[in-house]
Amino acid sequence: MDLDAPAPRPSGARLADTLGRPLRELRVSVTDRCNLRCTYCMPRERFQAHAFAPRAALLTFEELARVAGVFRDLGVRKIRLTGGEPLLRSGLPELVRRLRPLGVELALTTNGLLLPRLAAPLAAAGLDRVTLSLDGLDEAAFARMVDAPYRPADVLAGLDAALAAGLGPVKVNCVVRRGMNEDQVIPLAARFRGTGVVVRFIEYMDVGQTNGWNRREVVTAEEVLATLSSEWPLEAVEPERLGEPALRFRYRDGAGEVGIVASVTRPFCRGCSRARLSAVGELHTCLFSGPSLSLKEPLRAGVDDTALAGLLASRWSARTDRYSELRGDSLVELRARPEMSALGG
Ligand code: SAM
Ligand code: SF4
Ligand code: SF4
Repeated sequence: MDLDAPAPRPSGARLADTLGRPLRELRVSVTDRCNLRCTYCMPRERFQAHAFAPRAALLTFEELARVAGVFRDLGVRKIRLTGGEPLLRSGLPELVRRLRPLGVELALTTNGLLLPRLAAPLAAAGLDRVTLSLDGLDEAAFARMVDAPYRPADVLAGLDAALAAGLGPVKVNCVVRRGMNEDQVIPLAARFRGTGVVVRFIEYMDVGQTNGWNRREVVTAEEVLATLSSEWPLEAVEPERLGEPALRFRYRDGAGEVGIVASVTRPFCRGCSRARLSAVGELHTCLFSGPSLSLKEPLRAGVDDTALAGLLASRWSARTDRYSELRGDSLVELRARPEMSALGG
């Protein structure tokens, strides 16, 4: 199985950045807090005494809904709520209710622990779909990755709740880190083959400045594909849309699909049409770049929608980001990288 596939090219942009990429997706971090301490995201030793954003520093639901509406008018067609752990933000279904009238696809990325309580109210509020993170089925491997007193069964209970609430199709994300959980690739794929739930294996990334990332710990897409192929024959599936981050594969025996997100070894910056809003209202035009604009000040100073749209459009038009394509360049390595937990994955 070959990983090489033609990269999709941007087209039909109303608003485009300097590389011709349209603005299509907004990722909104609703909190920087989390109930897990995944070693690759919020290592316990570094987040023990961390100053999380105070409540008053977070954008309110009213502010978020307003910003989201302006993004929609600029071309955004999908909004993903994330964090930190988004289900820790109290009243989250109310935010979904406020976003629903925008008519965009509404998705959520979560560790799933609070879904047994929240899946039904989120679905009732208008959430379309959910992606859960689950880094292993074996309790020891899971514990090594998330460093908190939970079990894979707790996440699976959340997944069942999401399916029961109609929040499908559900996807499962697994970050693969060498020496920690690469032995979970086959069990996870086996668990979800034939269920309609698509598992996506994610290359461990150098986001933030606390996880002590080391390239040797990246289990590459090629390795994951070889592991999967040794068990089940696979064939590549063409990307459905521009900027799709996952390489998609179909089990030849008809048991569904599996994905690999090769952010390190096969960067997809060329099709990246995502803007990110941090929990405290900073716009980031790349997972690896500092804030390009704080929206909280203009919002709280009474900016109108036209002026806000002008600010966002000018930032997007000036966007040059393509960090993953430049990774390894020492000049790029020097810049301050935001934490994934503050920015949202
Ligand atoms: N707490 C939620 C969760 O874990 O799904 C949402 C936020 S989390 C930052 C979003 C996604 O980023 C998760 O799927 C997580 O596995 C992924 N992630 C975090 N740190 C990562 C890293 N260093 N490399 C690759 N993926 C990472
Ligand atoms: Fe929390 Fe998600 Fe980061 Fe894990 S990956 S520490 S669940 S925000
Ligand atoms: Fe997009 Fe930045 Fe990731 Fe490239 S490195 S795909 S520009 S978020």
